[in-house]
Amino acid sequence: EGPMRVQRALARAGVVSRRGADQAVAEGRVHVNGSIATVGQVVDPFRDVITLDGTPVITRVTSHTWIVIHKPAAVMTTRKDPEGRTTVFDLVDDVPGLVYVGRLDFMTEGVLLLTTDGRAAHALTHPSNEVERTYVATVRGDAVTAAKVARRGVQLEDGLVVPREVVAHPLGGRRWALEITIAEGKTHEVRRLCDALELEVERLVRTRFGPVRLGDLPSGGARALNSTEREVLEAL
Ligand code: URA
Repeated sequence: EGPMRVQRALARAGVVSRRGADQAVAEGRVHVNGSIATVGQVVDPFRDVITLDGTPVITRVTSHTWIVIHKPAAVMTTRKDPEGRTTVFDLVDDVPGLVYVGRLDFMTEGVLLLTTDGRAAHALTHPSNEVERTYVATVRGDAVTAAKVARRGVQLEDGLVVPREVVAHPLGGRRWALEITIAEGKTHEVRRLCDALELEVERLVRTRFGPVRLGDLPSGGARALNSTEREVLEAL
């Protein structure tokens, strides 16, 4: 990878968090080729010598693999299934250290991220980061009332869920596509939410995880993330 801001080079090297890097530069603890680094200074991670508190930082990290797959139903989000079912790793060119970012249920479809950046995978699924996920649930029931109730928040066993956005699209009769955006990622959260709202879920698709959208990626397909998507995710 080419030139980048000194804070990003430090965070990518894994010696500090992104916020920690901002702070270290602001406090004058970072040097580039012997001079105090300035906030936003552009460096070449392969050529410049960067130190933090006087210690050289290895910034020549090779870039991580980031993949989004369109997970079909009946695929396990796991490394190895004892029952031999298809896993998300069967859908990609697997590489050492590849991990998934936030599980999808066996029958849930849609956006699933895979990365070799373990630190980012952990950060992205941590509730404090509030990464938005959008789901489209095909449901049967009174979705208009359910959407109103959901917007005020729904108490689940493990806490209150207040979706960022809930939109009900009519599919005819009692069938609706309920589009729900949440920012925390509890286990089976959307299915439990729909259960609490007395909606019967026929199908559940995650259409977005943070900056990454499903778009027209076909079911079972995979693509590498673009640099904009990666930058947003790696900065979290
Ligand atoms: N919520 C669910 O209920 N299932 C998923 O797979 C993801 C979110």
